[in-house]
Amino acid sequence: MDCIFCKIANKEIPSDIVFENERVVAFRDINPVAPVHILVIPKAHVASVQELDEKHYGDLTEIFKAIKEIAVKEGIDKSGYRVITNCGKDGGQEVFHLHFHILGGESIGKLRCK
Ligand code: AMP
Ligand code: ZN
Repeated sequence: MDCIFCKIANKEIPSDIVFENERVVAFRDINPVAPVHILVIPKAHVASVQELDEKHYGDLTEIFKAIKEIAVKEGIDKSGYRVITNCGKDGGQEVFHLHFHILGGESIGKLRCK
């Protein structure tokens, strides 16, 4: 499958990986919009939240465990951070492999839609 995040998970293309276990990989966003901007993905391909079903629920648990651990490693667990997943066209999703953005390292401000 021609999916850039599958290629990152399979190490077919380079990325700055900050966390990895059997089910999850996390790497720095190539175009960061905050001092800490990390993407957390399941290794198994699924396009978006809208495609999730029961077989993915274990991955979701691992993703949120990873997010907590990464926040501690990056030193933003106490200052706080935002977790975002974009879904579909109106959500502004560009890469159709489920991913959660971790944004932190400064005040991310109020949630803005535009
Ligand atoms: P979105 O699908 O809207 O959540 O955005 C996809 C995100 O993936 C953007 O923030 C991109 O900067 C990021 N991105 C795209 N390609 C790469 C890559 N090869 N390595 C790291 N981040 C990437
Ligand atoms: Zn994929």
